[in-house]
Amino acid sequence: MKTISISVKTSAHTQMIDITDEIAKAVRESHVEDGICTIFVPHTTAAVTINENADPDVVRDFTKEIDKIVPWEDGYLHSEGNSAAHLKSSMIGFSQQVIIENGRLLLGTWQGIYFCEFDGPRMRKVLVKIQEG
Ligand code: ZN
Repeated sequence: MKTISISVKTSAHTQMIDITDEIAKAVRESHVEDGICTIFVPHTTAAVTINENADPDVVRDFTKEIDKIVPWEDGYLHSEGNSAAHLKSSMIGFSQQVIIENGRLLLGTWQGIYFCEFDGPRMRKVLVKIQEG
């Protein structure tokens, strides 16, 4: 099955965007009933994670705390000036996999798929691969 590319427009320096609906749409359109959905972020200063999508404060706490763990300024050597974004991306990770059952993503009740921007705002891309089996 073809790789699907989804565009994500971020509007802040650090931001988490719920992309669950876009991924679910790709799964529906694939007509795959049982399989695996891989979500991959082809950037070095962004990431993808799965976390609670019920209370927006979770996302606010997440972005606030990750900025404390990896501060934007800390005497980094990387001349581009965005080392913190590179570090956060590797910490969170560039891909997630979700099981597809009966044509739907088998996410937990409170789980959503989040694109994580660490050096925005920018136009970004998320790649989705859906495999049957
Ligand atoms: Zn850089």
